[in-house]
Amino acid sequence: MLTLEKFSLGVGDRFAHQAKAQLQACVMAADRGATVIPVWNKSNREHTIVGSEPGSVRAAADAAVRALGWSHPYHVDADHINLTTVDRFIDASDFYTLDVAAAIGQPAAAADIAAFVARHPELAGTVSIPNIAEPFTITAEAVAQIAAKYLAAVQQAGAIFRHISAQRAGRDFITEVSMDETDAPQTPPELLVILAAIADEKIPVQTIAPKFTGRFNKGVDYVGDVVQFEKEFGDDLAVIAFAIGQYGLPANLKLSVHSGSDKFSIYGPIRRCIAKTNAGLHLKTAGTTWLEELIGLAEAGGEGLDLARYIYAKAFADRDALCAPYATVIDINYAKLPAPETVNAWTSQQYTSALRHDQQNPEFNIDLRQLLHVGFKVAAKMGDKYLHMLDACEADIARNVTGNLFDRHIKPLFL
Ligand SMILES: [Zn+2]
Repeated sequence: MLTLEKFSLGVGDRFAHQAKAQLQACVMAADRGATVIPVWNKSNREHTIVGSEPGSVRAAADAAVRALGWSHPYHVDADHINLTTVDRFIDASDFYTLDVAAAIGQPAAAADIAAFVARHPELAGTVSIPNIAEPFTITAEAVAQIAAKYLAAVQQAGAIFRHISAQRAGRDFITEVSMDETDAPQTPPELLVILAAIADEKIPVQTIAPKFTGRFNKGVDYVGDVVQFEKEFGDDLAVIAFAIGQYGLPANLKLSVHSGSDKFSIYGPIRRCIAKTNAGLHLKTAGTTWLEELIGLAEAGGEGLDLARYIYAKAFADRDALCAPYATVIDINYAKLPAPETVNAWTSQQYTSALRHDQQNPEFNIDLRQLLHVGFKVAAKMGDKYLHMLDACEADIARNVTGNLFDRHIKPLFL
């Protein structure tokens, strides 16, 4: 088994131009004593929208690692794959995020549920877990109900895992199971049942991405009850530590926080929780690097600023279509979006103030930020014109990409 390090940062590089700037943030962390492993993640949906192939992520990662002399591990994540989308990722990736959220609630065979309940008498009754104040009280009926809700999803994860293993033919890889893209969060007792089922399927899961309580909107801060989040996050960590011993799961199994970028108000709680239990963490970010490209373009002025303004105008015009696929992970108030004519008159400083995620800045516009977050399709459609501008404004962009990851993500979590 290829082993994932304790702390890892999922980074997304939609246009395959920022791997070096992203890795630079990990280099700065390593220089200060925190080893945070970069994992370049890109989903099938992103590849389809951008028109790229998984091999391009691997090539960009390899080139960045060579350029900066990075001597720690790094990985390439086939993000949110399933049986129908995984095949194009077999050679380029060494990390697979098995997304089985769509199968949550699908009926498993009654005999399978009964067999699960019979195999796991330890789950029913009072379950005392170290570091959780109140023992779980789960009736046998409740175990059956939870199994009925999640067993089909876990069986599907097993099928995807075995498919990848067969295709990889001996080439090791890291397995993540994700259940975050669904409506209801998983409670800590549900997580325990899920982990028992994952162990039954013999999936060597190293990270698991549950859906946490609260809203994890794209590219903006957490919305929800921070105190409740901290309690559940701590309980999830305790459940994982317990399940590792109970079910023989990999000792380095850790939580993966999806849509983890910019969740500033929960970084303190996460940091406290992992410090308390010496747990690891995988924080998955993605679209924020694309927003830093826009900030860098705007900061560069001239044609870069013109392009950043143009992308806003196009995104504004296409807002309904751009937002529709992301409806559950954005909250945009259209009335707060500036008119394109207004943005077209903005200076570099006005554009970057509105877009950069600085909550202290009165000019920060959370609605504009979310719209541009889902607006990468506009840049994708521009093709080489956009890519050439990334090259022309590289210094301004790289400074922002590195600074965002290091100052706003790595520092509050790991340093
Ligand atoms: Zn995700």
